Amino acid sequence: METAVSNFVEPESKLAVFAAGYFADRITEMGSRHGANVVRLEKPWGETFSGEEARDFIRREQPQTVAFVHAETSTGALQPGDAICEAAHEAGALVIADCVTSLGGVPVQIDKMGVDIAYSCTQKGLSCPPGLAPFTASPRALEHLRARKRPNPVWYLDLKLIAEYYDAPHTYHHTAPISSFYALREGLAAIMDEGLENRWERHRRCHEQFLKGLSTLGVRMHVAEGKRILTLNTPRVPEGVNDVQVRQKLLAEHNIEISGGFGPLAGKIFRIGIMGPLATEESVAMFLDAFGRVLAEVRESATASR
Ligand SMILES: *Cc1c(COP(=O)(O)O)cnc(C)c1O
Repeated sequence: METAVSNFVEPESKLAVFAAGYFADRITEMGSRHGANVVRLEKPWGETFSGEEARDFIRREQPQTVAFVHAETSTGALQPGDAICEAAHEAGALVIADCVTSLGGVPVQIDKMGVDIAYSCTQKGLSCPPGLAPFTASPRALEHLRARKRPNPVWYLDLKLIAEYYDAPHTYHHTAPISSFYALREGLAAIMDEGLENRWERHRRCHEQFLKGLSTLGVRMHVAEGKRILTLNTPRVPEGVNDVQVRQKLLAEHNIEISGGFGPLAGKIFRIGIMGPLATEESVAMFLDAFGRVLAEVRESATASR
């Protein structure tokens, strides 16, 4: 994220952020620290922006850079990028997309969407050890970078310097974490063995199985249908249920760890990752069984103590 912001958001330039979650706030913070004038279009956590909203915002603000979070892990919402990129390019702006949670789990079509700069991670959808951040920049983005007058204030993330290593003359910049590269290579090989489309399809099937189970339990999803990240499910905590108790019991008695909501969604949602090797019919069934039991027990103890 900071490689994207520090190289492509120049001091005093305007950065437009689509903000409906924690990671959009983090981009905002980085933009301000790098001296940009950050403008935000805000929505409640869990919602996404329509094409019309995106176009109106960008046409009104005429920013130099636009940033959106493709899969907002804090809420479970997936933001389409096509309209954002189209409007941004009309305004002559570059587009940064945070694809940290989406890559390897759901389709991430950088060039089809028109995204100029994107970054991801190794430890989520790709299901590899943490520590690396896959990164891409379009030829347009590189042109902007070359034209940049003031150097990136963060030496370590300076793509101009890194490019001199990546391309000839291979000038030394920093020592790469080679062991992590080998781990990533193996992780990617596993994905290619399965086939990317098969993998997306497996995640979709598991998501649907999960939804069916949830509706049997009478639990509702936080994000509207059609706007959800298939690998990161955010059911609402049912009325009268203490989410911390549920998570603690799941961990202590079933060895299953799920996350809670934070910020405005603290205590309101669960965040349940069904991605990578965990996305199987058996593990979803096992989870639903344990989740159903724990919910019933927590409800019972809440009634008993009243
Ligand atoms: C996890 C996440 C990040 C941060 O990645 P780390 O590797 O945990 O620092 C950024 N953006 C999104 C959308 C994320 O889900």
